[in-house]
Amino acid sequence: MLCGNLINMALSKEQLQIKRKITQKQNELKEKQTSNWKKYLTFSFGNNKEKQEEKEPQEKEKINPKQVLKLTEESLQKKYIMAECCHPIPGDDVLGYVDENDRIIIHKRQCPVAAKLKSSYGNRILATEWDTHKELSFLVYIYIKGIDSMGLLNEVTQVISRQLNVNIRKLTIETEDGIFEGKIQLWVHDVDDVKTICNNLKKIQNIKQVSRVEE
Ligand SMILES: [Zn+2]
Repeated sequence: MLCGNLINMALSKEQLQIKRKITQKQNELKEKQTSNWKKYLTFSFGNNKEKQEEKEPQEKEKINPKQVLKLTEESLQKKYIMAECCHPIPGDDVLGYVDENDRIIIHKRQCPVAAKLKSSYGNRILATEWDTHKELSFLVYIYIKGIDSMGLLNEVTQVISRQLNVNIRKLTIETEDGIFEGKIQLWVHDVDDVKTICNNLKKIQNIKQVSRVEE
């Protein structure tokens, strides 16, 4: 939710329009955001250096664009924000984006929002390096598809419950014309957990497709 607000100004105008739907005072906000957007463009392309120098004395922690961000459990909880558009987890290929309030948002590199930020505000993109130790849990979504058969659901839940470090949050299943489709919401520690679980799900006889999805 927070991230949604943070990235507002960096989104395209069409995306902004979608975002606006959630507010009640549509017109007021429209004006405000439009002017913020302009200001931000000027800031980014025009007086970038000057502004940064002005701001430096107030900054608690300087952000050096050449530094590689270390993504530790502590920094993920206190300093950085995981983008809600792409739900990155430890092990994903990610980047950091320094927003206009000097907060750092972590996106997957393949995220469309991140790609946009990268092309428009390359000077605000930071390289990252994971340094986590399976202490925090992150939510991922896994899509499965297969041929509906006796005991299939049971096998799926058994594969998941057998794996340590992984907890199921929600499982939704639909079957139609003999085809079984499901989405599993899981708490995992990192991409290794996801790979293991996907590989084990693929071993189930009637499961034909397993993939991690955004939501
Ligand atoms: Zn993203």
